[in-house]
Amino acid sequence: MFLGAAAEVAAGYMYVKVFENLAHKYLLHDLGKKKESLWRFHFHEHHKAAIKHGMLDPAYFEPWWLNHSRAKEVASLIGAFGVHLPLAKKHPYFVAGVGIGVLEYYYKHKKSHTEPEWAWEHMQNHVKHHLLGQNNYWGVTSGLVDRLVGTAPTISGDEWIALRVFNMRRYNGVREKAEEMAKERSKEHKEKLRESLEGLAEKLYSFLGRK
Ligand SMILES: [Zn+2]
Ligand SMILES: [Zn+2]
Repeated sequence: MFLGAAAEVAAGYMYVKVFENLAHKYLLHDLGKKKESLWRFHFHEHHKAAIKHGMLDPAYFEPWWLNHSRAKEVASLIGAFGVHLPLAKKHPYFVAGVGIGVLEYYYKHKKSHTEPEWAWEHMQNHVKHHLLGQNNYWGVTSGLVDRLVGTAPTISGDEWIALRVFNMRRYNGVREKAEEMAKERSKEHKEKLRESLEGLAEKLYSFLGRK
């Protein structure tokens, strides 16, 4: 019984690793490259920011509900988990494995873009995706699936060091400014949210007053 449950959790977790590669390639990139796409936040915003700041993405310094790009990422993760919930009755451990995989994705992806030093040690596949070849290295939390299907070209130790030195220099040069700008943007977003909530409340009052 215990072994069966553990195997189901492992299957759910591994399934997320495959799903991660496929969704990243086909939804976030193939569809997301189109300007009007719902998924454009990944390619047109997240990739641009990570290249500009040497892996750092200042959006991750803002609360997720105030930044539309981050809110879309969170909503996609909740949606991806949610569509598996109907399986929970028959395969609760599989769904638990999916949940663990999704949480791991959120935590590690965020950390890799707020603490690039950590990413260079623990998220090498994702660092390569952003800073070396954005048409390869699709696995975010792990490079396992890429290695199996041949989408993780190997590079020499020297190339890796050169890439790291170049990008860490860039990151160190912009970190403070990026943090300040994120604080400013956060304030602006909060203000906008307050204004739109006030506007909504006013509309609601006038609607109720008319009745
Ligand atoms: Zn990408
Ligand atoms: Zn990323």
